[in-house]
Amino acid sequence: MTNGPTRLGVDFERFLELSAMLGRDILKTQGAGGNTSLKGGTEMWVKASGKWLAHATEQDIMVPVHVADLVTALRNNDPRAEKGLEFVIKTLNTSGLRPSIETSFHAALPNAVVAHYHCVNTIALSVLEQRDELLKQKLDETGMIWATVPYRRPGTPLAREVDLAAATSPDVMVLYNHGIIVTGETVEEVADRIERVTSALTMSARQVPDASLGVLQRLSQESGYSPAADLASHQLALSPENIRLAISGSMYPDHVIFLGTKIGLLEADQSLPAYIESFANAGETAPKMIIVPGCGVLLSNELTAGGQVMARCLAEVVARIPDNAEVVYLTEADEYELTNWEAEQYRQALDRGAAQS
Ligand SMILES: [Zn+2]
Repeated sequence: MTNGPTRLGVDFERFLELSAMLGRDILKTQGAGGNTSLKGGTEMWVKASGKWLAHATEQDIMVPVHVADLVTALRNNDPRAEKGLEFVIKTLNTSGLRPSIETSFHAALPNAVVAHYHCVNTIALSVLEQRDELLKQKLDETGMIWATVPYRRPGTPLAREVDLAAATSPDVMVLYNHGIIVTGETVEEVADRIERVTSALTMSARQVPDASLGVLQRLSQESGYSPAADLASHQLALSPENIRLAISGSMYPDHVIFLGTKIGLLEADQSLPAYIESFANAGETAPKMIIVPGCGVLLSNELTAGGQVMARCLAEVVARIPDNAEVVYLTEADEYELTNWEAEQYRQALDRGAAQS
């Protein structure tokens, strides 16, 4: 257990419980995504890079940082703000953890408690061309103060935008093509706001028929791919609209980081081995996820647990995007920035090695 409870008072246990609750809800958090923080005095405890919020009450997943020094670095464009390592309070970091790549925006927010997560309803709304008017309709009714934040790569570029948006002291911030931040002064206040914003932003999922698991199993024998074990991931392939939305571009960072920019699509008359081989022949890596229209989704056997939950995340996001909606996808430059990013390579290495521990 961390040194937190004696440092920041009884709230720390409740904070860990709230973190674990967010982490266990697949519609809010997938794998190592999402992070929470708690400030007290000059310290901020924030989720460590590569750790899963779901494990908050069982494992040491929080790292202590000097909050004011990190904010100063962020505002002065000091490159040390990017990873935040220099601002870790080493004497309290008994597990030797590294702060989340999103630590700098937690620091920039003045609130004692900050929860950030990749809510599938929020992502589905925040990628729409019509997001501004839809969010206004849904969030004005909550009576909470809210703001939107344009898409930026996670890390200091996003933290600077969050810092600007914090000028109006919002309770809720919707990060375009990314997720949501909910803030407050106590754990209870944040928990209550999460409940209210979740109900305001809920979108109904498009109904689809069942997956054809037998067909997927026959197709994928000895191919290095298997039908997605999480049955809800298959909805991605079970409606033409879901397929159109999924293959037209990348919508948010964790998808690009864990599944890559290319989603496979097996045509009706194509054999799976020939399809996979076509990538090798072109000198390209085969997609980690392949859609078999009307049947379901195949995932590479090399995909980590963190990657598998991203397949489910995408399935849940596209299912909530209304029919014929126009989507604002990430640009090629955004994708390039995400796939050539050192901090993320560290997180992926952790994911391969230890995500299930
Ligand atoms: Zn995030």
